[in-house]
Amino acid sequence: MKLKIAIQKSGRLSEESLRLLKDCGIDVNNGLSKLKTEANNFPLEIFFLRDDDIPQYVEDGVADIGIVGENVLLEKNKKVKTVNKLGFGKCRLSLAIPKEKKYKNIKDLNGLKIATSYSNILSKFLKKQNVKAEIHEISGSVEIAPGIGLADAICDLVSSGSTLLTNGLKEVEVVLRSEAIMIATKNLNKHKTEILEKLLFRIQSLKSARHNKYILLNAPNNKLEAICKILPGMKSPTILPLSVKGWSSVHSVVEEDQFWEIIEKLKSNGAQGILVVPIEKMIL
Ligand code: ATP
Ligand code: ZN
Repeated sequence: MKLKIAIQKSGRLSEESLRLLKDCGIDVNNGLSKLKTEANNFPLEIFFLRDDDIPQYVEDGVADIGIVGENVLLEKNKKVKTVNKLGFGKCRLSLAIPKEKKYKNIKDLNGLKIATSYSNILSKFLKKQNVKAEIHEISGSVEIAPGIGLADAICDLVSSGSTLLTNGLKEVEVVLRSEAIMIATKNLNKHKTEILEKLLFRIQSLKSARHNKYILLNAPNNKLEAICKILPGMKSPTILPLSVKGWSSVHSVVEEDQFWEIIEKLKSNGAQGILVVPIEKMIL
């Protein structure tokens, strides 16, 4: 029995969804042109679908798991489980208005006609903010709506903001921050749950690896104690003697967020020849 995963057929999440599987060591038969394909070395069947359809397929159990933007899941409101955040496909759902319009605060949205493909998320947001506006649902090219007189404002996905800019719009409120997530059907059988756990274990080791760097440096032996205190490592740093007398090589793992702070401390404690290398996988 194979686990069935639904990923976006062609769009912003397609490439990274496939790359995620590949980085997990899963060899997918080339098949973006097809509706489905299989992995050669993992019990996985891959369906290529429009992202909007993925939550429904997973709710119905036609696919066991799927990769979609959180924004799509929230809009569709299907009964599925979110099993993991994947760290790619980051964007925000924002309200924007023509750039020449004045904007002080959210009350300025009262009475406006807002075009969006995300009417469920938007209406909840407006209700919570106590704003009364008219929502006009359209399925695509939302950003041109104000320009052609279809609406006064839009609510759409933004990443860099360049699409807004080229359409003469400015972002005024962030409704939601989103990234790609993995969702799963509610009643997965034992066998498929085991396959999913295997997959999640691999994804976790990629995520940990991405957050950490491998660091190597040289230090005089009389500074080793101070340097080891700065470098926590997975257990403790590895210390190897250099062929030059009185010096050692220190190896450890550091978290990305603390990275620069740690480097500065190491330097001021006498570390030299610091090398930092990415980690491909990290099994904790
Ligand atoms: P489909 O043909 O599958 O329906 P689509 O046009 O609806 O595709 P894409 O534009 O490919 O969807 O976006 C897929 C997902 O990528 C979005 O739902 C969102 O989660 C994410 N995303 C990341 N950055 C952006 C962005 N700048 N604009 C739109 N979506 C983005
Ligand atoms: Zn779509």
